[in-house]
Amino acid sequence: MRLLLIEDDDRIAGPLTEGLGRYGFTVDHVRTGAAGLAGSDDSPDLVLLDLGLPDMEGLDVCRNLRARSAVPIIMITARGEEADRIVGLELGADDYLAKPFGVRELVARIRAVTRRTSGALPFPAPQHQVAQSETPGPQLLGPLEINRRTRQVRLDGAETPLTPREFDLLAYLAEDPGTVHSRQQIMDTVWDPHFFGPTKTLDAHVAALRRKLGDPAWITTSRGVGFRLTVPGHDAEPGTAG
Ligand code: CA
Repeated sequence: MRLLLIEDDDRIAGPLTEGLGRYGFTVDHVRTGAAGLAGSDDSPDLVLLDLGLPDMEGLDVCRNLRARSAVPIIMITARGEEADRIVGLELGADDYLAKPFGVRELVARIRAVTRRTSGALPFPAPQHQVAQSETPGPQLLGPLEINRRTRQVRLDGAETPLTPREFDLLAYLAEDPGTVHSRQQIMDTVWDPHFFGPTKTLDAHVAALRRKLGDPAWITTSRGVGFRLTVPGHDAEPGTAG
């Protein structure tokens, strides 16, 4: 699936392009409204439109896009642009997302909008594979059971209550057990694609997860790199199922 990203801020577009790439999306990135309108001639499957552009009013870009095609449009808006969101939706945008947002949230919106606008488009599998939200049934990792549909986690059959962020962190690490995920990858995916600043919150969440899972060996620190999930006692060859 090809996305056209119209966004002048590279600090947002860069991580976003990379994050969406991990979900298998191809992203064409342009920085102006004019380039976006030109790019829309290449028939992207969906347009991500930042409303604050240097050369044109984002709403005009939206109106022009809609006049040219029925391509699904998701607006990316800044705080304080509530009125623009409403006008944008009236002009034919399909949805909006307010900054800051995470890649997962955006992917969920893309899927929802595409389902709504075209019925059944095939979605690319995320490149880091294994269990995703489409996967039926929970993922089993030794005694750990992760159910992405209900967002429930069981350990040895007993429900383990996690905060939403703790769940997202665990589910992300569990997508590729045994693999080290860098701090930046984790921050981009579980927190926000343009999270800049101290990542102490990540350490706090890792500590909380270790505590709740009852064994710090579940999450291994790779010093200077990041974290990985392993089933305690099964470090040698982590499997994808229990
Ligand atoms: Ca902007």
